Amino acid sequence: MLTEGISIGKAFGIPLRLHYSWFIIFVLVVWSLTAGYFSVTYPHWSLATSIITGVATSLLFFGCVLAHELMHSLVAQAAGIPIRSITLFIFGGVSQMVEEPKQPGVELRMALAGPLTSLALGGIFLAIWYWIAGVPEFIKAMCFWLGWINIFLAGFNIIPGFPLDGGRVLRSLLWWRSKDLRRATRIASNVGRGIGYLLIIIGIAMIFFGAWINGLWLAFIGWFLENAAASSYRQLALQDILKGHRVSELMTQDYPIVQPEITIQQIVNEQMLTSGRRCFPVVQHNKVLGLITIHDIKAVPRAQWSAKTVGEVMTPLAKLKSVGPDEDLTTVLRILTENNINQLPVVKDSNVIGMIARDNLLSFISVRSELGS
Ligand SMILES: [Zn+2]
Repeated sequence: MLTEGISIGKAFGIPLRLHYSWFIIFVLVVWSLTAGYFSVTYPHWSLATSIITGVATSLLFFGCVLAHELMHSLVAQAAGIPIRSITLFIFGGVSQMVEEPKQPGVELRMALAGPLTSLALGGIFLAIWYWIAGVPEFIKAMCFWLGWINIFLAGFNIIPGFPLDGGRVLRSLLWWRSKDLRRATRIASNVGRGIGYLLIIIGIAMIFFGAWINGLWLAFIGWFLENAAASSYRQLALQDILKGHRVSELMTQDYPIVQPEITIQQIVNEQMLTSGRRCFPVVQHNKVLGLITIHDIKAVPRAQWSAKTVGEVMTPLAKLKSVGPDEDLTTVLRILTENNINQLPVVKDSNVIGMIARDNLLSFISVRSELGS
C-alpha cells in the first residue's frame, strides 16, 4: 500500500514517488495557507498574492519533506543498505529499504538524520526571516511559516513511537541494550500505539472544546500512528515466522499442466471449473513455456474464448517472476506483495519444478502462529 503512487523522477539514484493521498493533502495545505493563515495574518494582501504565496510555500514545504526523507536514505546507503524507492506523503515519506539495518548504531544514525535535517532547515528559514533586511514581505511570510513547520516536523518525527523516527531511535537504543530486535520492536511499537491513542483522545477533547479543525487533524494523525505502529510490528512478526524456511519446504509439485494449443474455452471448461485452480503451467515437449492464470483469461473477451489459444494468452516464462527452491520464504512474500501476484513458479536450471502460492504462505503462517512456534 505504501508504494502506490506516481513516479516523479530520481534523486541520487533513488526513484521518487508521490502517494495518491499527497494530492488531496496538498490542496488542503494550499487552501488552509491561502484562505486561512496568509489572509488572516496579512489582510492587506490581494487574493493573487495569497494564492501564489500559498502555492509556493506548499511546494517548498514539499521540498523540505523530500530533503528530510532523502537524508534518511543517504545515510542508509552510506551504511550499505540499498534504498528501493521513496514514497512521499505531504507530512513525510517512506523509504523502501531492501533490508532493515543490521546494527543498532546504523539505525540510530539513519533515524536521526531526518529530524536533524528538518531542524537545520527550520533554523535557516527563521534566520532569513529574522536577519535579512529588505526581503519582500511575502518572502518573509513564507520563511516564517516554513521555519516553524520544519521545526514542528522535526518535533513530531522525534516522538518516540515506532515507526516514527523517534520510535526508531528508541528501538535502536533498546536493541543495543538487549540485543533482541523483536523485543525492541515490540516495545517501541507499543509506545507508538499508546501515543497514537493519546493523540486521538486529545484530538477528540479538542473537538468538544470547539477547536474542531486542529482536533480533527490531531485525531487523524493519532489514528495513522496507531495503525502504522501495529502493522510494522505485525510485519516483523510475520517475517520472523517465515525467516529461515525455504521455498522447497512449501512448494506444490503436483499441479496439472496444460498444452499451449488448447483454447481458452477448453481450459475453462475442462480444467478451471472442475479443479477450482486459478493458475496452470503451460508445457510443451516437457518444457515450460509460461503460466496461464485466471487474470490472463479474464482479460480476454468471452466471445473470443473459443478462438484464442492458451499459448496466445499466457504470460511467457521470460516475463514471469520466479524463485529458486533454496530462496527464503520472506523473499517470496516480498515478491508476491510487491508485484501484487498470487503465485510464483519455482525454477531450477531453467525448469519449473514447482509452484508456490500466497495460500501456501498464509496457511503456513496461520498454523505456526496458532501453535505459537
Ligand atoms: Zn523521518
